[in-house]
Amino acid sequence: MTPCLFCSIVNHEINASIVYEDDRVVAFNDINPQPPTHVLIVPRRHIATLNDLNGDDTELVGELVRRAALIAKDRGISASGFRTVFNTNRDAGQTVHHVHLHLLGGRTMHWPPG
Ligand code: AMP
Ligand code: ZN
Repeated sequence: MTPCLFCSIVNHEINASIVYEDDRVVAFNDINPQPPTHVLIVPRRHIATLNDLNGDDTELVGELVRRAALIAKDRGISASGFRTVFNTNRDAGQTVHHVHLHLLGGRTMHWPPG
């Protein structure tokens, strides 16, 4: 089985620019940032997509979202605004199958995303 890229980052087996970690959640800068702030917030535990969440994961998902808001605050973009996105499967363009919340900000973004 191909090792999961984000599991490897979470386990410090490959390098990433980690901005936050605790026993349940890790956040790191996206390697190919789109806006000036582009951070990925992931659960330590491997969960492939939002389709694979179970009933016990509700609090964990809340931690991902809250961590995104706290990192946005640290970056000084809380008031100006930011976007948070989970891509799921092919039509949304999910390329890494380990749940990750994109935190995007630092410039004006357009809607709809296309
Ligand atoms: P998604 O298309 O929603 O699956 O997003 C995957 C994201 O992971 C993309 O924005 C990639 O730029 C990012 N990415 C891929 N490899 C790495 C890596 N080694 N370190 C940090 N971010 C990565
Ligand atoms: Zn994984």
